[in-house]
Amino acid sequence: MSQTYSFFQSVERSFDKAARFTKWDKGLLEQIKACNSIYSMRFPVKMDDGRIEVIEAYRVQHSQHKSPCKGGIRFSDAVNQDEVMALASLMTYKCAIVNVPFGGGKGGIKINPKNYSTYELEKITRRYTAELVKKNFIGPGIDVPAPDYGTGEREMAWIVDTYASLKPGEIDAAGCVTGKPISQGGVNGRKEATGLGVFFGIREVCRMEDTMKKLGLSMGIEGKTVVIQGLGNVGYHSAKFFREGGAKVVAIAEYEGAVYNTNGLNEEDLFKHRKATGSILNFPGATNLANTSDALELDCDILVPAALENVINKDNAPRVKAKIIAEAANGPLTPDADEILTAKGALVVPDMYLNAGGVTVSYFEWLKNLSHVRYGRMEKRFRENKNMHILMQLEELTGRQVSAEERAAIMRGADEIDLVHSGLEETMISATREIMDIWNANPTIPDMRTAAYVNAINKVANSYMELGIFP
Ligand code: GLU
Repeated sequence: MSQTYSFFQSVERSFDKAARFTKWDKGLLEQIKACNSIYSMRFPVKMDDGRIEVIEAYRVQHSQHKSPCKGGIRFSDAVNQDEVMALASLMTYKCAIVNVPFGGGKGGIKINPKNYSTYELEKITRRYTAELVKKNFIGPGIDVPAPDYGTGEREMAWIVDTYASLKPGEIDAAGCVTGKPISQGGVNGRKEATGLGVFFGIREVCRMEDTMKKLGLSMGIEGKTVVIQGLGNVGYHSAKFFREGGAKVVAIAEYEGAVYNTNGLNEEDLFKHRKATGSILNFPGATNLANTSDALELDCDILVPAALENVINKDNAPRVKAKIIAEAANGPLTPDADEILTAKGALVVPDMYLNAGGVTVSYFEWLKNLSHVRYGRMEKRFRENKNMHILMQLEELTGRQVSAEERAAIMRGADEIDLVHSGLEETMISATREIMDIWNANPTIPDMRTAAYVNAINKVANSYMELGIFP
């Protein structure tokens, strides 16, 4: 019989399902699963019209097995403690899976940003940061927030500025938050990181012969049909990289409905259309789907839910036709939906590994902040001089000159963006292979999510053991 689970309970349930495939002591597993510190706060903010509003907000630190804790801050009127706890837990497992040395954390402010002026949002964000500082819940070695649903570079800039002004002289202050604008210590490539990570992860899955055979799909991304739910940062960039990788993005959904075109959609044009008209509907050449959730049930190879949690549940899961469900959002499937889709033979590629591109590049940003030097600064020219030297030797030996374009391509030393993308690609490829190896080594593991959890649990448990925290 199906039961309703809170988001945190769903995460616990997936954890327990995987824990059975590990050898760890029950107490240690309980410790890993628990949220270590939960800060629930209320603070007053004076609105533009002079009213005082009490703001409800949270920061949860799920695990300190590695420091700092890491995870985004969301602004949404659906925020509640259970949701933040679930998301903080997912961050712990996510970081472990992609070998990013952080514990999990998450923050949330229960507001719909659309209902507030920019000045009001700035006051809320700055006050929230000050509350975190007061309780020692933020800092480059303590807990490092980042963007999440409803927040972006602008909010991160307010956070770092508030933090730095309250901690004068702290030389690593820029590392108190990631996802900052480049001018405030951000790293090139952070914005598109989650979407690009989703693409790299799915591309790797599509390169696995056995997996593709089981799904009845051809190898590779080329020609695959993709449906994307959400045209926010993650949805937009997932669409872009799938399209550029040769897939056909046949539908994109948002609150107001969805648009569908079997010849493929261009996310950039759709984004502009939405900006100009206020809706994705009536996009030239595309068919409207009045009900946004209808898009989830369209015929396609890859379905990418890139918005909020619980969008695929026991009611609509039986009608989902996609062979691969790429969980770009956190928790888009309820446990029932997960089981229904797995039973149907679909491959659910789980959130806490697939959307780890964001936190991976956040890690690169944090390292940049702590090292106080931009990636590529030390070696770019050196590499170009070396390449030039090698090329000249080759030309002399072969008696042949390369074309001007070839010369430019061979000589180029890596910029920050090249290194960030390459680090992300390596991370997602290794993470995919690690999970698949665990799954292949134990065919009784029922699905990829469980294999991912087994990997995460083993890594977190190992670091607890190394810490020797149980005297
Ligand atoms: N909010 C993103 C996530 O859920 C990014 C977190 C981070 O960069 O710390 O993974």
